[in-house]
Amino acid sequence: MIDFAVARADLITHLHHEIHDKRVLDVMAGLQRELFIPEKSRTLSYTDQPLPIDCGQTISQPYITAYMTESLELKGTEKVLEIGTGSGYQTAVLAALASRVISVERIPSLMESARILLEKLGYKNIEIHQAREGLGWEADMPYDAIMVTAGAPGIPEDLIKQLAAGGRMVIPVGSRSTQELVKVTKDEDGIRTQKLGGCRFVALIGKDAWQD
Ligand code: SAH
Repeated sequence: MIDFAVARADLITHLHHEIHDKRVLDVMAGLQRELFIPEKSRTLSYTDQPLPIDCGQTISQPYITAYMTESLELKGTEKVLEIGTGSGYQTAVLAALASRVISVERIPSLMESARILLEKLGYKNIEIHQAREGLGWEADMPYDAIMVTAGAPGIPEDLIKQLAAGGRMVIPVGSRSTQELVKVTKDEDGIRTQKLGGCRFVALIGKDAWQD
């Protein structure tokens, strides 16, 4: 039997080399990633790698989850939009570091299981919605931070629109198979972009993104 608590502590020690925001690491140190992983891969919960979840989707590698979260520079007061709830693990990390998280997911069964799990875990500041045709969730815009956890062919205009002035967005941009993580900062004059390194995400599907 694997001791998940020990494996989790080892993973956090490993992440310390690259992740500098201690609050992000503290949140991940207190969150049971194994609860978000399908049973057949559960023993791998604390290896630093992405893992398959249902419907051909993946839960991100812990390093990527930590790095993307850190790059949003959350202070605790923000309203955050997440695109691609998937397992709900990243949603839970964001919820511990922001005031409110609105997360959208395209696949109804993933949306439903993440919603049930996060409710069971007691999160009160997460709202999960079924994605509509346009990207994001306009009803609650503007957002102080946006995290896109699926790869896009470019930076979608619809998401820039949903970002508040002073807001940050992190999004994987590139081909269907490999992307570069891009941080977008918006101010009164427009956006600035900064490249954060290579990554591999499943495709962002929809208008201004990839076809199913
Ligand atoms: N953050 C998740 C990553 C899940 S993989 C985790 O770590 O578990 C990316 C998810 O994005 C998939 O579940 C996929 O269904 C979803 N997705 C793809 N296109 C989308 C869209 N346009 N709107 C919302 N979700 C989308």
